[in-house]
Amino acid sequence: MKKFVIGNWKMNLNVHEASLFAAKLAQDIPIRRGVETIICPSFLALEPLSLQIDHRQMKLCAQNCYWRDSGAFTGEISATQLRGLAQYVLVGHSERRNIFDEDDREIRFKVQAALRNGLTPILCVGETEFEYNEGDTPHVLNDHVAGGLLNVGSDQMDDVIIAYEPVWAIGSGKTPKLEEIEKAIELIRTQVAHMFGKSIAKNVPILYGGSVNLTNARAILSVKGVDGLLIATASLIAPEFVGIVEIASELVKKEGEKG
Ligand code: PEP
Repeated sequence: MKKFVIGNWKMNLNVHEASLFAAKLAQDIPIRRGVETIICPSFLALEPLSLQIDHRQMKLCAQNCYWRDSGAFTGEISATQLRGLAQYVLVGHSERRNIFDEDDREIRFKVQAALRNGLTPILCVGETEFEYNEGDTPHVLNDHVAGGLLNVGSDQMDDVIIAYEPVWAIGSGKTPKLEEIEKAIELIRTQVAHMFGKSIAKNVPILYGGSVNLTNARAILSVKGVDGLLIATASLIAPEFVGIVEIASELVKKEGEKG
């Protein structure tokens, strides 16, 4: 199965800087089968980058979208407007949930807007530190997955990606134990199986995100059930991001050799 390596640049880099950074990545990320390398620049940089990048080498992901297609929603950007610029869109990132108060209802509308407009939503789910300490991770994951994917049709699940991102691991330098990541991914797959059946659950790509870097990427990517990584801090350091793509590529190759 292919691996995803996704760089979320958040609210960093202006359009010019984004273009230079993408050019730097392009020098070092060969076109590889088996790894889907995706960058998430600001909305402003999507258009210039969509013209600049080789789409066989890297794909573009928006960091957010509004769920209505058009209308009087000053300052918002719809999934309809992202068509042709991005192939993917992050939905329900913990910063959207916690800073901008997005709830599961809004998040599910965004998932549907993405699908309706031919974009692949990357649904981010994960517990806060408080919830982790309370042992609430399973409930939170169930709620986020069920809330985000309610009303999605089984036939649309081929176009959905889920990212497990414990909020306490984001930007903190802390990561869960590998067995905790495995368990969380398993819980997410079980919830998807309840909703859509085992075969869809087996195939839905589930990524891990939260303080991934060049040092821990190999171990995390090797955890059973992890289909890729969502990376922010390290994605803004070219040698780290490129190195992680290299690791993903090696692992895909090894898996292929094993059969
Ligand atoms: C994120 O914000 O999605 C993330 C994974 O951040 P970081 O890699 O910096 O922990």
